[in-house]
Amino acid sequence: MKAIIIFLAIIMLAACGSSDSSGVPEETLPPTDETPVMTPTMQPTPEPTPEPTPEPMRIPVPTLRPVTSGFPGMRTFAEPRRPMIALTFDDGPSQYTTAILDVLEEHGGRATFFVLGNRVGRSADIILRARELGNEIANHSWQHRQFPRLTADELRDEEFRRTSNAIAEVIGYSVPMMRPPYGLYNDDVLEVARELGYIIVNWNMDPMDWRDRDADIIAQRILNNARNGSVVVLHDIRAPTAEAMAYVIPRLIEEGFEIVTISEMLHNSNTVIESGRVFRGLARSN
Ligand SMILES: [Zn+2]
Repeated sequence: MKAIIIFLAIIMLAACGSSDSSGVPEETLPPTDETPVMTPTMQPTPEPTPEPTPEPMRIPVPTLRPVTSGFPGMRTFAEPRRPMIALTFDDGPSQYTTAILDVLEEHGGRATFFVLGNRVGRSADIILRARELGNEIANHSWQHRQFPRLTADELRDEEFRRTSNAIAEVIGYSVPMMRPPYGLYNDDVLEVARELGYIIVNWNMDPMDWRDRDADIIAQRILNNARNGSVVVLHDIRAPTAEAMAYVIPRLIEEGFEIVTISEMLHNSNTVIESGRVFRGLARSN
């Protein structure tokens, strides 16, 4: 069945777009030194049944909540609408996430954190705090493998569902948004996303905090390029990035920007992205 996400809480039928991988990998560091973890087999088998189970055990479907339907922390804006910018942080949570949350809390912005599933359990307190402050927690895979190298089953069970389940175990639900590691995807990735009801979220501004570990440079790139509809890719696993946010976030607010989650950007711009499609930010004409 083909599904669409309409970001006003409606799921409908639609076709799937096709497109190829985009861009050069934006990240150079291995995200984690964790050893790969096997698919969990902790599902309780209910009662013994005389008939064999026809299908192999699958990781259960996470509790997905359409991103714009009833986020307790989600802001909707009265007219005149202020320009919106979405700061997105990949590869965490980490110790630097806390510093970024402090800045967001102090100045009144909200961000989207694309977390790695294998970091979720040990970072539950950070994730809960982020959620309480109105930030968005979304999926950046389980262990940062390159999606085009994975099978559809690996994508579906390990990267999409296992990570979303880990998030849902902490905050009660998971939003159906996936940022693939390095932004890399192919038609198989889009097909799995469509099948599971996810959108792919990449970016339209890369201040290259993964390459240039300098808070001033990172800050200036963001401030020089900020516009309504910017989606900025950052990494909350680096000290210079957290340091840059202490400067950037109050400056952006001074300049009149509303610092929003991806859900808020979509909702407040009346943007609808079908599942299996890629969102990179609002078009310049918006
Ligand atoms: Zn990443």
